[in-house]
Amino acid sequence: MTLRIGLTGGIGSGKTAASDYLAGKGIEVVDSDLIAREIVQPEQPAWLAIREHFGAEAILESGELNRPWLRKKVFESPEEKTWLEQQTHPRIRALTITRLEQAQSRYVILASPLLFESSQHQLVDRVLAIDVPEELQILRASQRDQNPADQIRNIIRAQIPRTERLDKADDVADNSGTLSELHTQLDRFHTRYLSLASAT
Ligand code: ATP
Repeated sequence: MTLRIGLTGGIGSGKTAASDYLAGKGIEVVDSDLIAREIVQPEQPAWLAIREHFGAEAILESGELNRPWLRKKVFESPEEKTWLEQQTHPRIRALTITRLEQAQSRYVILASPLLFESSQHQLVDRVLAIDVPEELQILRASQRDQNPADQIRNIIRAQIPRTERLDKADDVADNSGTLSELHTQLDRFHTRYLSLASAT
């Protein structure tokens, strides 16, 4: 099987910047956020189960899930949260495994903001964390999304602490400098992953 590299990092750390760069070198990227959206597309089994369970209110006129409504529902009820996770998590995992298996590039990246939190690190051979200090995370993420710093801080609190992420990762790229400094580090990891891939 293709060598699988997990790519993670906190909000605004530069995961997309990193995965775009490696994708430009021909490396396939499986994006866990996209997979999570894909499994709840209209008429998919998880979407059908959600409509059946919550009723029409859970679905917008466009057919997409009514995410704000569902978020409120699961925020108010731990049982509903558990139910929803039971519907979605196994399907996300199954589709992630399929996509990793289908990859044709020399190695494949699984990009996931919650790689450790959702145990997706079990699906990869090695983990690369993109690291920046918290203040820079807040600055970059709030500039990108026009979100207040407090909101970004709350998201950071809900993610694994930075030190724990760094402890668990096999490789760390420091993205506190310029993008070209990030690319230089990624070039080195890319070379290493290619040689690991040819050794397996
Ligand atoms: P999220 O988890 O929120 O999706 P992310 O980890 O994918 O974030 P990016 O979207 O890659 O992070 O980066 C966050 C913002 O910071 C983007 O606007 C990006 O262009 C910018 N950025 C990333 N790296 C650098 C850098 N080295 N220098 C300047 N800006 C950067």
